[in-house]
Amino acid sequence: GKINVALIFGGKSGEHEVSLLSTSSIYKYIDKEKYNVFTIGITKDGKWMYYDGSPENIENGSWIDFVNKNVEINLIPSGNKEVGIIYEDGKTEKIDVLFPVLHGPYGEDGTIQGLFEMSEIPYVGCGVLASSVGMDKIVCKKVFSQLGLPQVNYTDTNRWLFNKDEKTELDLIEDKLEYPIFVKPANLGSSVGISKAINREELSSGIKEALKYDSRIVLEQGVNAKEIEVAVLGNEDVRASIAGEIKPAKDFYDYEDKYINGASTYEIPANISEDDMKNIREMAIKAFKGIDGRGLSRVDFFIDRNSGEIFINEINTLPGFTNISMYPKMWDKTGLKYINLIDELIQLALDSKKLK
Ligand code: ADP
Ligand code: MG
Ligand code: MG
Repeated sequence: GKINVALIFGGKSGEHEVSLLSTSSIYKYIDKEKYNVFTIGITKDGKWMYYDGSPENIENGSWIDFVNKNVEINLIPSGNKEVGIIYEDGKTEKIDVLFPVLHGPYGEDGTIQGLFEMSEIPYVGCGVLASSVGMDKIVCKKVFSQLGLPQVNYTDTNRWLFNKDEKTELDLIEDKLEYPIFVKPANLGSSVGISKAINREELSSGIKEALKYDSRIVLEQGVNAKEIEVAVLGNEDVRASIAGEIKPAKDFYDYEDKYINGASTYEIPANISEDDMKNIREMAIKAFKGIDGRGLSRVDFFIDRNSGEIFINEINTLPGFTNISMYPKMWDKTGLKYINLIDELIQLALDSKKLK
């Protein structure tokens, strides 16, 4: 028989809209001979809704007007209810695989993965640990550093230290780093809350801005660099795609450039030396294995334009997944088509269940 796959989309994070685009792409391209697709939307205020309409309405956001509120989604094993989709007449449809097509907090950070673990249904992508480590820029840097992966210099601060004694905190940061300094909330993505400070005033205001999003802040040495990305895929046997380069339209790759005006361009394969390409692909796999990755991740790097040094920037455990996002495009150029990529991710989820 066919495999029942539930795409979970939307979500409470600032990346809700990106998720809608990724989901409608997957829905359109997934092999329907092999999979029955169910779609479960999470509203911006966190309500789970059963939806069985077209992918177009997911893409344009109008899905919310067509949800079926009488259908229950039960992911918690309990004494009197089956796990799955429970219709009005009480009939339950079992879900074989959950596919979280969510980005950012609550989707990519281990929280929903914890719920999935409790449900005992296999799910696509990284588990709790890899997801939460990947989402937390401070913890992730510590793990990368233990793994011997090269990174730009960095330090961190937090709400309590900064509010107690701003001057000392700024002095400490200025002792460790030179301007420009990147200021980032520890737990976010999509460049939200990130700024580039070129002096003490901007450093102070950048930290205050970032503190609106998180109580812990990362400060990084700014580099003038090429931005290189690699797609990683697998459970035990992990492979890395050829790397691509993102060319931001502005000073840095910010939210607007990523999702609003999309003025950046890209190049796959990245125009880098063979050695750098090989090195970056190996480092991407090392980073993925090092955080206990499973399924997929996109690993992002910088190559310093002056020194040629390679730095790992971050790992994204649920990268953008529309058919024109970097992750699928890099696999396409490596010889794996979008439809086969979706298939492989689902099979990896089913396999990982067997490994337990
Ligand atoms: P996010 O998880 O939100 O994507 P990133 O750490 O990737 O956060 O930062 C977003 C963007 O900011 C990067 O793609 C890059 O353009 C720029 N950036 C971040 N850190 C640095 C840095 N240390 N030096 C230069 N540019 C940076
Ligand atoms: Mg990120
Ligand atoms: Mg990034």
